Amino acid sequence: VVRIHGISKSFGSLKVLDDVELSLPAGSVTAILGPSGSGKSTLLRAINHLERVDEGFISVDGDFVGYSRKGDTLYELKETDILKRRADIGMVFQSFNLFPHLTVLENLIEAPIQVRGIGREDAVQLAQELLARIGLSDKINAYPRQLSGGQQQRVAIARALALRPKVLLFDEPTSALDPELVGEVLDVIKELARTGTTLVIVTHEVGFAREVADSVVFMESGRILEAGPPARIFTEAEHPRTREFLAKVL
Ligand code: ATP
Ligand code: MG
Repeated sequence: VVRIHGISKSFGSLKVLDDVELSLPAGSVTAILGPSGSGKSTLLRAINHLERVDEGFISVDGDFVGYSRKGDTLYELKETDILKRRADIGMVFQSFNLFPHLTVLENLIEAPIQVRGIGREDAVQLAQELLARIGLSDKINAYPRQLSGGQQQRVAIARALALRPKVLLFDEPTSALDPELVGEVLDVIKELARTGTTLVIVTHEVGFAREVADSVVFMESGRILEAGPPARIFTEAEHPRTREFLAKVL
């Protein structure tokens, strides 16, 4: 279980996250929707400790990720522990972010060897299993530039999975893709959802959110305006702003 407790974050005088509270049960799929600038990416980055929060804490299975701050009291982990904890939280970005100078295999084994300290042979075997799962076994020695956008994003997902994270965060994983490549990436994410991986997805693919998510979270101005099962949020959202937003994107 991932717990996001009362986190707030400001950039200068702009409050980007305002007392965000969210719980991600093991195996759940959470879709985050909301207008541009509402703080969705900042929230994901905070969960992964890429962004420091001013207040609140994130915990994974009861362990703090990084630090916790309440008023003047700050508990902080050592940098090495932060890195270890962060490996429990995988992240897939809009722009794939594969290492361009490394092959698919090298992209997949780098972090497991460096961060998890597993042996090269085991890392290679895991990489082969993951490539089979995403249907790209034949691309094991290709470089990212030799792959389509959809293939690169599937490799990016496999690379995140190679660390065996407890939760996987996706920030608009399909919005940089040509429309005909969106489906193959969503299919991989659907398969992960089906096999019980805990997922958080910021997406504008409302149909996908409706089909796959257990919980839909609507954000505006750094706050969670409402959250609930898709069947409710998409048909009878309580908040007028949620209804207004959904009317535009549905
Ligand atoms: P989008 O849908 O466009 O991706 P978002 O909901 O992901 O939007 P964020 O990227 O989280 O929004 O940004 C929230 C707010 O924080 C925006 O007003 C943005 O300009 C601001 N912001 C984000 N990162 C920084 C930063 N490093 N420094 C200053 N302001 C920032
Ligand atoms: Mg964003």
